[in-house]
Amino acid sequence: MEHTCTKIPFDLDSNSDYCDGYIMFENRILFVYENGAEAQYPADEMAELIIRSDVGCGSLEIRPKNSEGSENNIPVCRFTMTCIDALGELCKSVNHFIDTGEETEVSLEQTRICPKCGRHYMGGMNKCIFCTKKTGLYKRIFKLAVPYTKYIVLSGVMVLLANAASALNPVLNAKILDGFLYAPNLEISAAIKGILSIAAIMITASLIGQIFTVIGRRSASIVSAGISHSLRTMVYEKLQRISLKKLQNRTGGDLMGRVTDDTEEVKDFISEDAMRALYQGLLFLVIVVILCTISPMLTILVLLPVPVGLYIFYMFRVTVHIRYMKQWRCERQGKSVLRDIVEGIRVVKLFGAEQREISKYDKISLRLAKIGISNERLWALTFPYVTFFIGIGEFLVIFFGGKMAINGDITAGQLLQFTLYLAYLYGPIDWFSRLPQKLGRVNTSIIKIFEILDETEEAELVPATLTNASFNDKIEFKNVRFGYTAYEPVLKDINLTVNKGEMIGLVGHSGAGKSTMINLIMRLYDVDAGQITIDGDDIRAFEPEEYRSKVAVVFQQTFLFAGSIYDNIAYAKPNAEADEIIRAAKIANAHDFIMKLPDGYNTQVGENAHTLSGGEKQRIAIARAVLRDPEILILDEATSALDTQTESLIQEAMSRLVKGRTTFAIAHRLSTLKDADRLVVIEKGRIAEVGSHSELVKRGGIYASLVAAQKQTAKLRKSEK
Ligand code: ADP
Repeated sequence: MEHTCTKIPFDLDSNSDYCDGYIMFENRILFVYENGAEAQYPADEMAELIIRSDVGCGSLEIRPKNSEGSENNIPVCRFTMTCIDALGELCKSVNHFIDTGEETEVSLEQTRICPKCGRHYMGGMNKCIFCTKKTGLYKRIFKLAVPYTKYIVLSGVMVLLANAASALNPVLNAKILDGFLYAPNLEISAAIKGILSIAAIMITASLIGQIFTVIGRRSASIVSAGISHSLRTMVYEKLQRISLKKLQNRTGGDLMGRVTDDTEEVKDFISEDAMRALYQGLLFLVIVVILCTISPMLTILVLLPVPVGLYIFYMFRVTVHIRYMKQWRCERQGKSVLRDIVEGIRVVKLFGAEQREISKYDKISLRLAKIGISNERLWALTFPYVTFFIGIGEFLVIFFGGKMAINGDITAGQLLQFTLYLAYLYGPIDWFSRLPQKLGRVNTSIIKIFEILDETEEAELVPATLTNASFNDKIEFKNVRFGYTAYEPVLKDINLTVNKGEMIGLVGHSGAGKSTMINLIMRLYDVDAGQITIDGDDIRAFEPEEYRSKVAVVFQQTFLFAGSIYDNIAYAKPNAEADEIIRAAKIANAHDFIMKLPDGYNTQVGENAHTLSGGEKQRIAIARAVLRDPEILILDEATSALDTQTESLIQEAMSRLVKGRTTFAIAHRLSTLKDADRLVVIEKGRIAEVGSHSELVKRGGIYASLVAAQKQTAKLRKSEK
């Protein structure tokens, strides 16, 4: 049968041996081909298509209709982890069909497999380095250079003049030879005078050449610093706008690397190599023209081997590129280990793991050194042979040029001039032959920078169509399904209606999906299927910033930026007046403790500054939330691990904050949710129970068992005391 839909590969058979298999979903049927044999599973008989991941491999299973638990699941195929992303996308598509009856194309966009060449993307990248067209990227870099045109032109002119100054040397040398040393009938004193004046010209030309070079370099550095500044700010600004789902696969170190190291790499390339390319290119042209004026025949002889040599280098660039990617990946690993160790140094010391961490870093560093040596060795072994080949022309010149001089076709001075210019000619050729090595490195950085710059922004994922996020009636979750990865749904079939002003307590075991629910309400992530609506409008239709201005959060762990307490509260509303901030701090029961600090509201907090206690930080967070005056409030485990007095201060502040607002609260200690209008119990990503505290206790379900377990723990604690 001819299939037109996307085929998703899998690679293990039921005995976990490697096999050749693929799977696809078309016309309500799941087709599975394993080593040529076909199996079909109608979607109408499925309740869900799921992935179970084991260690190093996983399996795709069908949960049949009318069956609970996993014992009746039908195994479909097995696979190694390289297939998991694509199969996860298949699950998403099939489950969407089961829920809605709508068939959708399986998207491989998130699978990190290049749709063109089928290779997996290199670590940390979402683009194929082999298939990405580089010319377009260079064009974009050059576009950034447009505002600096005058400096580029100045730099080019300076380079040309510096070249001209240094190109005088061989002419002057020839003049010394033919005009003074081999000139018959010339008096010695006149010859010495002549030589001295030529030496003076040489020194002056060299000095002027150096001045031109300095001016050229200064202009080049203005261009490169300007471009790197533009790139850095562009990447940084873009990072703020990319959705969290797109960012979560990247480490902080990688992202920081792209803002700093990669832009630096591009800057160095522009200031050093691009300028050198201009210099060497112009020098090459000037010298070829001069050589032709001396002897076109000898020039042709010299240039004959050059194209072949350059072609060999050109072919070599793919190998170089792959090797540099490997080196970069290893460097990246090293950096992220280093970052981990620096950030987690307390934990490392606490577990006495210094030696372990040292040897871990040592291993990576050694690997990096080996890769570096091997890359350099490859280069060192190839380079001299090809340069030798390119330089064969020089020997031809000695032979044929010598013959021409003996025959009197050219003078000895002209031959000397020619061979001196030849040395100038090999400089640019030598430099251009090293260009692939330099390009390999900068190409990787350019791809990494533009990968971030081209990442879809959250506003582009679902373009905003509504400008005013009004909220007068209710928030609804309609058949919501969501997973951080395609293959592992965290929330399933979530249906919930929350009226304006209601307080909802989210409860459930750890890992059940409570925080994920609030991540969706905050729109840090968008649902995979279903909808969250406010007064009937999908929240994705609102401008994200506008929508989030209606929401405030008080987390258990409050992050304070380096700065004063005043600035930290004002973070929620940068244009707030001082009395608004003090009022917010008073409502949050924070004013009194702030006034007792050495500098009051000006006390510096954050890294390397005054350390606030957990309870104090939480009150700053409440003050931020008060200042924001949100319609929807989210409290994530907002009261825990505090002494009784602080807790009552926080509780008091919190009940002021909650009043009249639609609130979603998560708390491990169920007693803190006693004010909630309704409790929603989440179990394994589904809503298991909804009701008031007394209703749920009466029902004797999951909530009742959670309450009983907490009472038991409290009793044990008391008896221990
Ligand atoms: P809860 O708040 O109920 O403890 P969460 O919503 O934090 O549970 O987590 C639900 C599930 O989602 C867990 O299995 C957790 O491992 C997973 N999870 C949470 N955050 C992420 C993330 N950023 N990336 C991948 N998986 C995540």
